Amino acid sequence: MAININTFLEIKKELETSKTTLVAVSKIQSEESIMKLYDAGQRDFGENYVQELMEKHAHLPKDIRWHFIGHLQSNKVKYIASFVSLIQGVDSEKLLKEINKQALKNDRVIDCLLQVHIAEEETKFGFDESELDHYFSTNNSFKNVRIRGLMGMASFSDDEGKVKDEFKKLKKLFDQYFGGQYSIEAPSILSMGMSGDYKIAIAEGSNMVRIGSLLFGARIS
Ligand SMILES: *Cc1c(COP(=O)(O)O)cnc(C)c1O
Repeated sequence: MAININTFLEIKKELETSKTTLVAVSKIQSEESIMKLYDAGQRDFGENYVQELMEKHAHLPKDIRWHFIGHLQSNKVKYIASFVSLIQGVDSEKLLKEINKQALKNDRVIDCLLQVHIAEEETKFGFDESELDHYFSTNNSFKNVRIRGLMGMASFSDDEGKVKDEFKKLKKLFDQYFGGQYSIEAPSILSMGMSGDYKIAIAEGSNMVRIGSLLFGARIS
């Protein structure tokens, strides 16, 4: 399936009203498809696989902001640390420690989001509420990482009420930990919402959505 620029423009317009940032999830998509969105003005792209991200970063324009949105293994942080814009799926303190180490080596500060486990499914990665509480109460201040906010994925479910409740839970945690820290240079980020549930997510207070299949067509994998 091909990319639909009109869908892209419609979504952009829809997000403008709520000042929500669009991350175009381009995993498994060709560089050619990415360039079509780039030419239409898109700069934030999300990838899930380190090798694929490295190749795309090497080939594509340098003003693209690359978001790593998948599960990142600690031993692979070094491959993306020099250029990644936002690591969204930080799901353990161990990983954070490694990101800090690699960021220091590259003499930069890497922006990160802590991934929170909000869905019912057991397989989803992320901090649960008590781990989050532990993280913030022990005040782990790694100098070369900046925790910009939270990211989460709702259950894959037709039950809108359930999805809504999960987003509500994440928004509450976001307000609790990031509510008072708004600044112009580095506004706090609440990344929630994908192709199937981004409208619900925005209504519940998301300010960053990660949309793949709606923009690029269904992934064949
Ligand atoms: C693949 C993926 C998305 C995009 O999913 P779509 O349903 O295609 O919009 C968003 N977030 C994460 C973490 C993903 O892995």
